Amino acid sequence: MNIHEYQGKEILKSYGVKVQEGIVANTPEEAVSAAKRLQEVTGTKFWVVKAQIHAGGRGKGGGVKLAKSLEEVTEKSTAILGMHLITPQTSATGKVVHKVLIAQDVYYPGPNPTSEFYMSVLLDRNSSKNVIIYSPAGGMDIETVSAKTPELIYKEEIDPKVGLQAFQTRKIAFNLGLSGNAFKEMQKFVNALYKAYLATDSNLFEINPVLKTSDDQILAVDAKVNLDDSGLFRHPGFEELRDVMEEDPTEVEAGEHDLNYVKLDGNVGCMVNGAGLAMATMDIIKLAGGAPANFLDVGGTANAARVEAAFRIILKDPHVKAILVNIFGGIVRCDRVAQGIVDAYNNIGKIPIPVIVRLQGTNATEAKKIIDDSGLKVFSAIELKEAAALVTDLLKG
Ligand code: GDP
Ligand code: MN
Repeated sequence: MNIHEYQGKEILKSYGVKVQEGIVANTPEEAVSAAKRLQEVTGTKFWVVKAQIHAGGRGKGGGVKLAKSLEEVTEKSTAILGMHLITPQTSATGKVVHKVLIAQDVYYPGPNPTSEFYMSVLLDRNSSKNVIIYSPAGGMDIETVSAKTPELIYKEEIDPKVGLQAFQTRKIAFNLGLSGNAFKEMQKFVNALYKAYLATDSNLFEINPVLKTSDDQILAVDAKVNLDDSGLFRHPGFEELRDVMEEDPTEVEAGEHDLNYVKLDGNVGCMVNGAGLAMATMDIIKLAGGAPANFLDVGGTANAARVEAAFRIILKDPHVKAILVNIFGGIVRCDRVAQGIVDAYNNIGKIPIPVIVRLQGTNATEAKKIIDDSGLKVFSAIELKEAAALVTDLLKG
C-alpha cells in the first residue's frame, strides 16, 4: 500500500528521522494558516507548496513550488489544488491533486553549501537481505544518474540476523563525502531510517532528496513509502492511511470482493482460479495471438457471487473484446462454477462480447453440459489449447 509524502514523514519522525517539517492542507485558506503556524514553530522564512499524490516526479510536473510570502502561498496552493498533475510516473492524463503539504523551506543559505543525496531501503530478494541504496548525486535527476553514471549508486547489504552495524553507517557517510558534524548526523539518520523501515514491515522507504542543509543538518525532504499489504494486520493504525482516491477504482472494487485483480492493457479479459493458473492462462492467450486485459484470480473457492463480481469488473474495461474463463475444479466443483457463470450471465443481462469457458477437473463434463444447455452465447471447452484457439478465432471475427 502506498501512502502520501506527509504520512511517510510522520512515520519517519516517530522513529527519530529528521524531516523537512510541514502541515497538510485541503484548501488555500488552510494552506495559509498552515504556513503561519509553521513559521511560528520553525521560524522558516519561505515555504514550499507540495502536491500530495501517489506518484513521484512532482517537481518536474510543476507540483512543488517555492512561496516567498503568504500571498504566494495562496497563489501557489490555489494553482496546485485541483490540478491534473502530470509527472513521468503518472498516466498521460495525470492525477488530480486533493491535498498540498505546506513545508518549511530547507534550502536556506548558510555557512556551508547544501547537498542532495538519494537513499532508499528495501528488500533484495536475490540475496535475502535488506539493502540500503544511496548516492551522493540525489535530487530530481536520479534516473539519469542511474542510467549514465551507475558508479555513483552505492549499495549496502544488511544481514537481517545481524542488523545494521556502525561500520556500515560510517561507510555510507564516508561515501557521501561527509565529514564533521554532518558525518555524525548522517549516521543517526541512516540508523533511524532503517529502524523505521523494519518496524513498519515496509517494502520500501525511498528518500530523495536527503538534504544536507547549509548548517549541516541531515533531513528527509521527500518520503516515498510502500507498506507491505501482508503486514498491515500487525499495524492497526495503518489502514486509515489508505487513500482510495489514489488507487485504481477497479482494483479497489476487486479488493472489496476479495478478488486479486491487476489491470493490464490487452483485449482478452480472463477469470481464473489460482495465481499460477492465471499466469499460465495469460501466457496461452499471448501464444494464441491475443493479449490479456487483466490478471484475475478468483481464488480457490469460486462461488456464484464472486464469479458475478469478477464478470462485472472485467466488463468495466472497454478494451475487452472477449472473456476467457479458466477454472480448474480441485476443491471447487466445476458444475457449481458453471451454474455460477450462468446465473451471473442472467443477472448482469446481455454480455455483448463472447465468453469462452474452460472448466476442467471434478464434474467437468456435467459443467460443460450446463453451459451448453443454457442457451447462452457462451462457448465451452475442456482443453485449454482448444479454449485459446476459440479465443483467437472469435477475435478474428
Ligand atoms: P518529487 O519531485 O515528487 O520527487 O518531490 P520532492 O519532494 O523530491 O521535491 C522536488 C524538488 O523540489 C526537490 O528535489 C528540491 O529540489 C525541491 N525542493 C523541495 N523542498 C524544497 C525547499 O524547501 N526549498 C527549495 N528551494 N526547494 C525544495
Ligand atoms: Mn523526491
